[in-house]
Amino acid sequence: MHNEPYLLTPGPLTTSLSVKQAMLRDWGSWDGDFNQITAAICQDLLTLANAQQTHVCVPLQGSGTYLVEAVFATLLAKDSKTLVLMNGAYGQRAAAILQRMGKTCVTLDKGDYQPPLAQEVDELLRQDPLITHVVVIHCETSSGILNPVDAIAKVVAAQGRELIIDSMSAFGALPVDANELPFTALVSSANKCLEGVPGFGFALIRETALVSCEGQSPSLSLDLYDQWRYMQKTGQWRFTPPTHVVAAFHQALQEYQLEGGQSARLARYSRNRDRLVAGMRALGFQTLLEDAWLSPIIITFLSPDDPAFSFMPFYQQMKSRGFLIYPGKLTQVESFRLGCIGQLFDSQINAVLEAVADSCTALGLTAIQPPQTMSL
Ligand SMILES: *Cc1c(COP(=O)(O)O)cnc(C)c1O
Repeated sequence: MHNEPYLLTPGPLTTSLSVKQAMLRDWGSWDGDFNQITAAICQDLLTLANAQQTHVCVPLQGSGTYLVEAVFATLLAKDSKTLVLMNGAYGQRAAAILQRMGKTCVTLDKGDYQPPLAQEVDELLRQDPLITHVVVIHCETSSGILNPVDAIAKVVAAQGRELIIDSMSAFGALPVDANELPFTALVSSANKCLEGVPGFGFALIRETALVSCEGQSPSLSLDLYDQWRYMQKTGQWRFTPPTHVVAAFHQALQEYQLEGGQSARLARYSRNRDRLVAGMRALGFQTLLEDAWLSPIIITFLSPDDPAFSFMPFYQQMKSRGFLIYPGKLTQVESFRLGCIGQLFDSQINAVLEAVADSCTALGLTAIQPPQTMSL
């Protein structure tokens, strides 16, 4: 039944057959039937974050980064100053976007994988009353660390600043309750934990913040205020929507509810992580992070300290056994990543572990040793 490889990557990921089949129909982008799908999706996403009373959902064409850029373009005024909490590639990308846009920005850079702590954020905000916004990455997909967003959100709210959460790889699996986790904007995309296919993303934005953003975005196509107002007026996307992708996402959301929603998805992903980590450790592999920081999204494993191991041959071995794995993104040590998300269940995780063991044998690895130099 499944002769394409499983994706052990954090989006695009392995989707269900029925999600793929939902793309076998053409939709009129201004037709009422399609508009209903868009409206239903937006309602579902707001409900998922318990944000129906406070926030609006604005979808936008493009990959997740387009949404991050659109939120910055739309919400950040000329005199804004943004603190970006960085501990990996996606925090760095957020800062790079701000710099490119000419927005004032400061960073707290924790390196490859250390978490930004609420207390550090609190101190920085006290020292600098000009900071208006804080950007945090929910799950920093480059290491797989789950950042302490709840504690950070409390500090940011207590200091009266605005929080923007890049929850791209976490939303749908990790709980988000707008009443308990105060945020101005939260960004995610179709092709991560909600298990749709790539092509659009969405931002949940506090309505009282968005109403005052007319004309602020220097980009026309990335203007979420205009996208929101136009959708309110017409039910349509401003420019050609990825209709098939939207229809597939609608199907993915129905399957999400059938599975049991956020708690069920979190339980399945957590089980995937726990079984993957236990199995990999039994083979001799070591995780980059201590258990407390391991997300149920993606896990970084240190490459074995053995000249027989290097990423591309290992990748090819895994691919020949039906799994596409993900390279590491650390600057200091060699690593690779395995994802827990998508249509992966116990039998796939068992097969992954078997494939890892067989791949290591095929590469001529004898005893798998993690690098000695790593201190966490
Ligand atoms: C996937 C992801 C993004 C968006 O990446 P795209 O390649 O543009 O889809 C942004 N932030 C995080 C944390 C991500 O995991």
